[in-house]
Amino acid sequence: MNAYDAKRISDTLVAHNFEQAFDATEAEILIFYTCNIRERAVQKLFSNIGLLRNENTKVIAVGGCVAQAEKSNIFQHKHINIAFGAQTYHRLPEHIEDVLAGKRRQILDIEFDQAQKFECLPERKNVSFSEFVTIQEGCDNFCTYCVVPYTRGREYSRPAKDIIEEVKSLLSRGTKEITLIGQNVNSYHGEAPYISIGKPKETWRLERLIREIAELDGLRRLRYTTSHPKDFTTELMRVHADVPVLVPFAHIPVQSGNDRILNAMNRGHTAQEYMDKIAKFQDICPRIQFSSDFIVGFPSETEEEFADTVRLAELVGYTISFSFKYSRRKNTPADKMAGQIPDETKERRLAILQQALLKDQICHNNALVGQTQEVLFEKVGRKPNQYIGKNVYLQSVIVESNVNLIGQFKNVKIETAGENSVMGKVVE
Ligand code: SF4
Repeated sequence: MNAYDAKRISDTLVAHNFEQAFDATEAEILIFYTCNIRERAVQKLFSNIGLLRNENTKVIAVGGCVAQAEKSNIFQHKHINIAFGAQTYHRLPEHIEDVLAGKRRQILDIEFDQAQKFECLPERKNVSFSEFVTIQEGCDNFCTYCVVPYTRGREYSRPAKDIIEEVKSLLSRGTKEITLIGQNVNSYHGEAPYISIGKPKETWRLERLIREIAELDGLRRLRYTTSHPKDFTTELMRVHADVPVLVPFAHIPVQSGNDRILNAMNRGHTAQEYMDKIAKFQDICPRIQFSSDFIVGFPSETEEEFADTVRLAELVGYTISFSFKYSRRKNTPADKMAGQIPDETKERRLAILQQALLKDQICHNNALVGQTQEVLFEKVGRKPNQYIGKNVYLQSVIVESNVNLIGQFKNVKIETAGENSVMGKVVE
């Protein structure tokens, strides 16, 4: 989502006649767009400001979740002029003008105003073959470890008409893959594009939005992220089975495999309920594969409770996963909980979990050998003539080619598999 926001900020500034500098030492305005999900975000921000500020710098703006969480405290760094939130970056051009004109030296603008932001953003520029489209922002779940509800605000779903128009515009300019994004994307409930006479205003859920977007000309691959297990409906599972452009892959963060910890995290489901959804999903869409997020060392987590997480991971057999040590975030309920776990214990548990997750990842990679996969190529590899792309399951596929493959879909016969990627040859 920060990558998406950063692009929209750059488009907004260019629309206001600012010019993008490609070397920070030449830039007069430095904009830092921050994430507060992990520890030491403020220190990292301040040290990056120290690295990049130079004699050409006239304005320093800090946006995103660190600005939102720190509020006016951010100005303890005396060189910061503007602090703007994730929902107010459409007003950044006027704030920069004010600082440049000497009207104000410090500006704090961190309101939550998602609807206004999306209305004010200009058309997207520099369109790529693969693009994110925000459909939903904010979160009402208040997991006890998470800062998002405080930094991104309450849940807001963009109207379906605006999303469809944005997707159509991207497709008409060459985008082939779209990822619909939101903090809690599968709780999407946006206003329908039309009103049926005599009926109350309709809202669409994610499943309906996907079915409509899938019909648009030019779309080759559709993804969405990040979802919450409790918002996974049977209908959404059916969409994966019915809609060919939607990948047979779902990121469903579980965080823990133990009910007491899930309850302490305020996740709103048990481990069994999660496993039941996974089983149902596999029934409805046999090609489906999963990825997940995990947190180890949540306050008061015992060895047995941690072992439940490893067991759950082994039972599901994720294709890829993202696992982290619990990290204390200021002003969240978990930060004040008793039984904070020592870092060495978290380190040890993380290593055990990651080993189990890696085993499954290798197993999924090995299973591809001999198969032909459709791959969208994204970047060059480390070696000459090497190109790296992703299959539908987000597995990295590496090939050698004398022609530039970036932005193209190709069928690749997989020949060998490693821990983090597979290698193969392009076939016609
Ligand atoms: S659902 Fe996700 S974004 Fe919302 S509070 Fe929980 S972890 Fe944070």
